[in-house]
Amino acid sequence: MSSPQDLVLASANAGKIAELQEMLGGLGIRIVPQTELNIPDIEETGLSFVENAILKARNAATLSNLPAIADDSGLEVDYLQGEPGIYSARFAGERAGDSANKEKLLKLMTDVPAQQRTARYQTVIVYMRHGNDPTPIICQGTWEGRIATESRGDQGFGYDPIFFVTETNCHAAELDKVTKNRLSHRGKAIANLLMQLQAP
Ligand code: IMP
Repeated sequence: MSSPQDLVLASANAGKIAELQEMLGGLGIRIVPQTELNIPDIEETGLSFVENAILKARNAATLSNLPAIADDSGLEVDYLQGEPGIYSARFAGERAGDSANKEKLLKLMTDVPAQQRTARYQTVIVYMRHGNDPTPIICQGTWEGRIATESRGDQGFGYDPIFFVTETNCHAAELDKVTKNRLSHRGKAIANLLMQLQAP
């Protein structure tokens, strides 16, 4: 069941859903993952985070008749000319999953010296009032770091165990969720979105 205060979250990624629900809690509205409304994932055919986030938000808003929010994100590794980028979730294959993606990246980065291991998480978050919204709110966030040489930590998701965070001198998967949400690409984009949603 849904009420007019519901906002659909256009993602099936459990890690993302948990982080976004935590960060959007302050809005005083209920965040409903699209899976709860049986809304299937749409194919991510865009060539940028912006295009894919719009596709996902539009799909969820259209099928639910509710406002929707989508996050399209990924990891850009400088040594790999920005890969895996928009293909981060399927880096090691369509159904490979976080662990295989991480292992593939670690392998590609074997013996790469520390100063060449720079990387960043990118996210674009799109908020659409309805499926035909011609002026969606689009917010971006970036989190700079380095690709570590081994996995550490059991928090977060995706590439967090191998993402070294300079500010905290540890891997992203070693951060508690409050700290990650304060520093992360997603945290920055959501802070921007909240500001825009609350503007008079
Ligand atoms: P999307 O669902 O197509 O946006 O894929 C996002 C992918 O980027 C995830 O599956 C992760 O592999 C990676 N990613 C994005 N944000 C994070 C994060 O905060 N931590 C770890 N990995 C992330």
